[in-house]
Amino acid sequence: MGRYTGAVCRLCRREGEKLFLKGDRCYTVKCAIDRRNYVPGIHGQSRRKLSEYGVQLREKQKAKRIYGVMERQFRRYYSLAARKKGVTGEILLQFLESRLDNVLYRLGIASSRAEARQMVNHGLITVNGRKVDIASFRTKPGDEVTVKDGARSMPRMKNLVEGGLYRAAPSWLEVNQEQLKGRVLRLPERGEIDVNVKEHLITELYSK
Ligand code: SF4
Repeated sequence: MGRYTGAVCRLCRREGEKLFLKGDRCYTVKCAIDRRNYVPGIHGQSRRKLSEYGVQLREKQKAKRIYGVMERQFRRYYSLAARKKGVTGEILLQFLESRLDNVLYRLGIASSRAEARQMVNHGLITVNGRKVDIASFRTKPGDEVTVKDGARSMPRMKNLVEGGLYRAAPSWLEVNQEQLKGRVLRLPERGEIDVNVKEHLITELYSK
């Protein structure tokens, strides 16, 4: 199945919470969750009790939607995480956080992960001085992520330099606003990943 191209606010309404998929709009009164916080569709306002499986499934779907990852790739992250030593759910989140599109979003250079993906796909980003146009590229501690010189003259980039980045970078990243670049200092710990995901439910779902 291909990437979802419908209205992204429906995804938040399906999960019943803000997933912050639309950048600036998510912080305004136009947010669909603030206006219509019920599941889209004809049965959206009827109450249904979820089974244990349903709860686990919803948590997995929510994580996929937050990071913009499709099922196959998400499953692959899980398999890789399960083979590593440590808490599988936390390692899974670390894999998701170290994606290049997420790092750009966390640095405050992009207003959303979708915008970050677009910047990467358009060839505007370099990692350690080399162009990378794969949004899922996994960054490592020490990697330097930069907006290419040519792209810095774009009005949106100028606004970022002069007006400030979209948000403050977390402590596992270092940001240089003037030069629109950042560095991955280390992998984030669970307490530093501010996503409302109960990763142990995803582990339970996949380990059945
Ligand atoms: Fe979700 Fe943002 Fe749409 Fe609100 S505006 S429903 S947070 S994508």
